[in-house]
Formats: sequence, structure tokens, C-alpha cells
Amino acid sequence: MQPEASLTPEFHVSVSRDDVLRALEAVKLPDGGSLPASGRLTEIVADGGKVIFAISIDPSEVNALESVRAAAEAAVKRLAGVTQALVGLTGERPQGSGAPAPAGPTPLRSGPKNPAPATAKATGIPGIKHIIAVASGKGGVGKSTTSCNLALGLAALGLKVGMLDADIYGPSQPKLFGLSGKPRVSADRKMEPLERYGVKVMSIGFLVDEETAMIWRGPMVMSALTQMLREVAWGDLDVLVIDMPPGTGDAQLTIAQQTPLAGAVIVSTPQDLALLDARRGVAMFRKVSVPVLGIIENMANFCCPNCGHVSPIFGHGGAKAEAEKTGVPFLGEIPLHMDIRATSDEGRPVMATAPDGPHAQAYLAIARRVWDSLETGAVARAAPRIVIE
Ligand code: ADP
Repeated sequence: MQPEASLTPEFHVSVSRDDVLRALEAVKLPDGGSLPASGRLTEIVADGGKVIFAISIDPSEVNALESVRAAAEAAVKRLAGVTQALVGLTGERPQGSGAPAPAGPTPLRSGPKNPAPATAKATGIPGIKHIIAVASGKGGVGKSTTSCNLALGLAALGLKVGMLDADIYGPSQPKLFGLSGKPRVSADRKMEPLERYGVKVMSIGFLVDEETAMIWRGPMVMSALTQMLREVAWGDLDVLVIDMPPGTGDAQLTIAQQTPLAGAVIVSTPQDLALLDARRGVAMFRKVSVPVLGIIENMANFCCPNCGHVSPIFGHGGAKAEAEKTGVPFLGEIPLHMDIRATSDEGRPVMATAPDGPHAQAYLAIARRVWDSLETGAVARAAPRIVIE
């Protein structure tokens, strides 16, 4: 009998790379050739009962090779001793067939090097109506905090909402939602998301410790994300919010390309530097034909918790002007306020714990705009092209 899928790094029987390759012999590509002979396999990591690798593809093959990916994962899972198999599709070439994969986490570059064509579309996820990405040009602008409160705002509108924390090198959603523990595995071998404040949450932070994710390379990151997206018992959802890794490098581009996104939201602080980064985010999603639903200005004004005086310490209105210039909607602004930081750290986000307060109302208004544009399709598709120098 196959052992129960374990999401912890405790393994009893070792599986070798050769065992994996033998199992994959039976997996055929559309041209009839076997997967190992195709030269498309990246490095196979077999660590105890956990097996991780990816299949190298051209972005236009996402749909055609999704069934091969699933078959490869199923074949490896059937091996005795395998407790977890993560197989992804990757745009990176396998080592030895050209440029090698980088030796650490995929570095975040200033812009995508090999932009994927805008034609390939990833297959949708049954039961999920809209998937949206929340992205930022750089870290620390409040992307995760905004994603969490946006998801809760959508839930407050009466929608069925999920949150996928794809910020693989710095998962924040477990803390923001005040969640810990491991997802259970259902009878059909899907992971059950954890649930809090009416939102279903899945994060790499529930599955592996931080150090493990830190050493993953691009293909492994994509494998893990594919599994978190497609092998989770999300059930019926109106919206799945994806908290993207910060930045606009190749890793983010691959996620944008391989995820069936209905739209993307960009979070920016008002500073010029962040706005330049935000512009890169807009350009990245446009490159892969994902509509940009709009820009949110976070930390727009500092509101003194003692006297209520409002100061624009990072400047103000920059994101709104930027949105107008680049032809994407401005979704709204969130102040820099101690309560937002404190409640986030405590796992009691303002949208859930102070829904009538001014901060929650600001998130709610943004959630309403996002939902309206998803439902009406009123998003910036025909906006001007942005050139990055
Ligand atoms: P990112 O995901 O962009 O790296 P986070 O959401 O983790 O950023 O936010 C970074 C820090 O800023 C956190 O400590 C968070 O609590 C705080 N923060 C985010 N938005 C606000 C805000 N509007 N007001 C006050 N603190 C905020």
C-alpha cells in the first residue's frame, strides 16, 4: 500500500534518482518519445521520500505538456517510498543543454530576460472563477499585507475567496492570517487549505521550513507553486488571490505565464523608485497578456496614532499620477498607520478585526473595484505600451 503523503521532511525509505528515471520511462511525450530520453528533465532531487524536478518547455507548450507533467508526477508518486512528488513545467533549460540553471534561488533581475510570448495561456482550475495576482516591483512595499486585506475585503463582499502565498522565499500569509500547522491530505491526495476569517489559505510556509525553500532553484519553485495551485482542494472559489514574490524577474514572469490569471494588481509606495519598479510590474503582466486591474498606493500618508495628524512622508499621489500615465486604473490608497502594522504582526488583519474602521473601509473599497473589473471585464487591455530603459 502506498504510504500516506507526508508534508514533513521525515522519510523512511530512500528513493534514488535512477528509480525515478525508470518510473518516468513509461511517461510519453505527444511525439511518442519517453520523457527521460527527451532531454527535457531538469536535475532530479530525490531526498528521502521527496522527489522534485521539472520538465523544460517552451512557454507555448504549457497546455500541451500539462498532462505529461501530471503523468510524471503520478508515476513518481506510485514508487514505493515516495511520500511527496513535486513536478513542474519550467521555461528554464535543463543543465547540460545550454545555459545552466542558477546555483541558488532565481535572482531577481531588473526585467525579464526572455519574455514569454503573449499567446500561450495556462489552463484554468476547475471550480475557481477568477485568479488574480498581487505583485510589486520590489519588496517591503506592503504587498503581502495588502494581499491579505484585499482577500478579506473580497470575502466581506460575500465572495468565496482563497489565498495562495506564492512568495516562496518570504511567505508572510501564515503570520498575517495567524495560521500555523500542516495541511491535511484528502482521500484523493489533495492538500486541504487552512482556513481563517472565511478565507482558504495555502502557503509554502505550511509545507517546508524556511531554509528548505531558500535553496530551491527556479524549476523547484515552479514545481512547488504548481502543486500549491493545482493539487489543493480549493473547492468552489469566486476569487483566488495570489501573493506573488516581490520583483519582476524571470521567476515572476514564469509564474505570470503559467498561471491562468484573470488580472493583476500592483502595490506601490508613493516613492519614485518604487513607482519605477511598479512600472516594470505593469510591463511584465502586459508582456504575457495579463490585464492589469490597477495600482494600489500603500503607505500613502502617515497618520499619527496620537493626534491623527496626516503627513505625506513618502510623498503622496505618485501612484495615482503613475496609473494615469500608464493607462491603468488607480484602485485606491491605504495610509501608513501603526494599527495596520500591529494587527498584521498579530495575525489579526484590520479587515477582519476592525471591519468598520477607516482602514478596513479603504481595503473594502479597493476590493469592490477589483471585483467590479473582474466581473465586467473593465480592465486596461488597450493601454499604451510601456518601454523600460
Ligand atoms: P511586502 O510583502 O511588500 O514585502 P509586507 O506586506 O510584508 O511587504 O509589509 C512590510 C512591512 O510594512 C510589514 O511590517 C507590514 O506590517 C508593514 N506595512 C505594510 N503596509 C502598511 C501600512 N499601510 N501601514 C503600516 N504598516 C504597513
